[in-house]
Amino acid sequence: MRAIITNEDVGTTIDFRSAGIYQAQHPWPKATVVSAGRGLVFVRNAKPGEPKSYGTLFIEVYPPGAAFIRGEGVSAEECENAAWAKYQLALHCTDGSGTHDWEPRDYHNGAGFCSRCKTFGSKVFTGEQLGQFCKTCQIGTTYHWDTDANGNLEYLCEEHVPPRPERTLSELLSELFDDDADASPAAPAHSLDTTTKEA
Ligand SMILES: [Zn+2]
Ligand SMILES: [Zn+2]
Repeated sequence: MRAIITNEDVGTTIDFRSAGIYQAQHPWPKATVVSAGRGLVFVRNAKPGEPKSYGTLFIEVYPPGAAFIRGEGVSAEECENAAWAKYQLALHCTDGSGTHDWEPRDYHNGAGFCSRCKTFGSKVFTGEQLGQFCKTCQIGTTYHWDTDANGNLEYLCEEHVPPRPERTLSELLSELFDDDADASPAAPAHSLDTTTKEA
């Protein structure tokens, strides 16, 4: 396995950060990229009375043959077992053909979920496939979308998204050399990762 940030070979060691070091129990392929820790999950479309967020241990893996797999649980082992079960589903879903049955659900950025094994993949749809065309030049795009005054979605390609205001060099430098900046590499060990997931 490789750590997601450093890309360094970590063998079977998974660093759950504030929750400690854990040895993987399942035979993940060597090329698997992994990230783990404790995170806060925002629940989209939470039903009334249900919490809109919760904290959990998680593991995220990018094994060969599957795009992105996340497992959650109360222990590191539970996280790994959940991810491994999804991985096995994904492997058997494709029948070795490498083809999932992608559906975009409500994503506009080209990502999708497999209807059979629920694997998540980024960049599995083009703008054309999604029927999203730049309102300026009409090319298919997954780059930018917004809601117009009538509540309809409109799309812009990378070239036609209005540029954000440029920061001046002095603003940039003051950000880089902010007095607080030298404290930032040692972020608190209990800092939360922020991810979202389907309700
Ligand atoms: Zn699938
Ligand atoms: Zn355009």
